[in-house]
Amino acid sequence: MFRWQIRPPAFLRRLLPGTVWRLPVAGERVVYLTFDDGPIPEVTPAILDMLEAEGAKATFFCVGDNVRKHPEEYALLRQKGMGTGNHGYAHRQAWRTRRKDWLADVEEGSAYVPGELFRPSHGQLYPGWLADLRKYCRHIVMWDVLSYDYRADLKSEDIEHNVLRHVRPGSIVALHDSLKAWPRLQTALPRILRQLKKEGYRLESLTPAEIEKRCKK
Ligand SMILES: [Zn+2]
Repeated sequence: MFRWQIRPPAFLRRLLPGTVWRLPVAGERVVYLTFDDGPIPEVTPAILDMLEAEGAKATFFCVGDNVRKHPEEYALLRQKGMGTGNHGYAHRQAWRTRRKDWLADVEEGSAYVPGELFRPSHGQLYPGWLADLRKYCRHIVMWDVLSYDYRADLKSEDIEHNVLRHVRPGSIVALHDSLKAWPRLQTALPRILRQLKKEGYRLESLTPAEIEKRCKK
């Protein structure tokens, strides 16, 4: 795969002013793993076990409808000290949804996943919607490394490679706690965690405080 597919180029990041793609960590070896689309009982607890085994923290961008269906898995995330963010209630695509309906979906999601962090589903967002969106969530979190763990035509080694080849201090890495990603992620994730640790990286969760501290000029 091409580098620009995995690490979004600067012009794309600039299209959405004020959104977070990577945290400025001044060379500190910190990486922020994120998991989208859960929580689900088949995958999320297994990921938590893998993270715990390596002393790693991460952030889960939860689909409101999944939190409604699986409150125990959501509670487990909070209990384990993981970061959580709103990923919409029904995982609606902004580019196929009217502004009013999309914002209503964000609002509904924030009832299930309260807090200030949001990631748009499918990464879709219109710059003109940012101001309204910030009424619900102050921090819109994108990514610095896209793993493509959801792509069935890739192997677990490809996912490993996508992450390990492109990760850098302050990277926000996009992964998924979904049934679609699991066939690859269950093999790739423990290897990614071990390798990052070996390279001296600390894996932290994203919180509003962490974002505000790091982004303060
Ligand atoms: Zn998603």
